Amino acid sequence: MKFGGSSLATAARIRQAASIVQHFSAENKIVIVASAMDDVTDRLVEIAESVQKGEMREAQTLLTRLQRFHTTVATSIARESSRRDIVASTDVLKTELGKTVEGASHLREMTPRSRDYLLSFGERFSAPILTSAVQALGLKARPMTGGEAGITTDDNFGEAKPLIEVSYHQLRKRLEPLLSKNQVPVVTGFIAASVDGSPTTLGRGGSDYTASMIGAALAADEIWIWTDVDGLMTADPRIVKNAKVLPSVSFGEALELSFFGAKMMHPHALQPASQRKVPVRIKNSRKPDGTGTLVCDRESDDNGRVVKAVSIIRDVGIVTVGGAGMVGAPGVAGKVFQTLGTNRVNVIMISQGSSEATISTVVARREVDRAVRALQLALLGQGQVDKILQEKDACIIAVVGSGMRGTPGVAARVFSAVASRKVNVRMVAQGSSEYNVSFVVSEKEGPDAVRAIHDEFKLGN
Ligand code: ASP
Ligand code: MG
Repeated sequence: MKFGGSSLATAARIRQAASIVQHFSAENKIVIVASAMDDVTDRLVEIAESVQKGEMREAQTLLTRLQRFHTTVATSIARESSRRDIVASTDVLKTELGKTVEGASHLREMTPRSRDYLLSFGERFSAPILTSAVQALGLKARPMTGGEAGITTDDNFGEAKPLIEVSYHQLRKRLEPLLSKNQVPVVTGFIAASVDGSPTTLGRGGSDYTASMIGAALAADEIWIWTDVDGLMTADPRIVKNAKVLPSVSFGEALELSFFGAKMMHPHALQPASQRKVPVRIKNSRKPDGTGTLVCDRESDDNGRVVKAVSIIRDVGIVTVGGAGMVGAPGVAGKVFQTLGTNRVNVIMISQGSSEATISTVVARREVDRAVRALQLALLGQGQVDKILQEKDACIIAVVGSGMRGTPGVAARVFSAVASRKVNVRMVAQGSSEYNVSFVVSEKEGPDAVRAIHDEFKLGN
């Protein structure tokens, strides 16, 4: 069971998380994975940035606030459990955090290694506090870092990659004996250790990845992700009033949905679970009895529905490279993507018509200018590309469902639904997995397009 930051945002939420564990531990052996409380990791990132900019006052203010916050929570949990030791161990961490910030402030330097060390405090605070809350309910529980639990990574700080087989082996060796003694391991999400023992982080949102790895290593029956939504939805409920929770989706569908902004796991995090076929359940910690959404190996057709969900990615722009000289000239696409790649522009969507006279890409809006400049420098004046265009006002609509594969007429329905609302489609792409049809419309028309498709495929019924 992984508890996200929102499910651990206050002392009360931590107590609730603990009682969820207690409830389900009657019939299950549970490993807990704890995220940092609330948005603590964001605050730690801000501290790192202040230190780097030499804004010591700002860093100090943020630091003091974070320290007080954790003391208040630890004190509240301790009062209930009459376990003073959690206050003492929170104090130790507070001091260590203070020294870390102070040291970095003197040097005015934040290397990737020290940044990871700083970011590790969020989970190092939360896991022992959650452990205390679980112990207060009479369970035997033990806090440990991801590194102590056995997750070993390379030393690519900030986005470290686990050494999978070693980690699996160690996770089993360290966690299984605890489980067989009826202890509940409480593992920090997000943080691990490099081979030489330095703390590393798995990238933002990495606690899901931790949970996925642990579930896979132990061949768990299920991995439960406790969060603040009821599960995966057919659409964003702020856009579509009758959006509903999807009872189950396949790993393939979840992957498409998570790429397309559904508030769920990072696609990367699904990998270990999907490889070892361990189902993942997304559940709302405020409504523990809800069934949530099950992500599993099976493709359920959900009463013959070809389309399961429609989502939207906002704040993107189109960058188009065109020129008569591109027709039949090999290597232009290669240069386009090479240039975008070396300039760290992430390409979200691609399309090229068979005339070959243009290649369009969709990138984050804040990266449009950088992309255009880089492409101008690299491509203009060589006889192939003669124009580079941009449109900043755009959003992507993604229509997802494994049943679309091999079913004729889905695209026709999608686009006539959109056309009936007089929404203009600017660009289209479908991957050959056929799990996903994506297209681009203006930002303003995005919500209408989403509603049109949700209605057309009766996703709310
Ligand atoms: N605390 C980390 C973050 O906010 C990891 C996580 O929550 O999954 O990115
Ligand atoms: Mg978080």
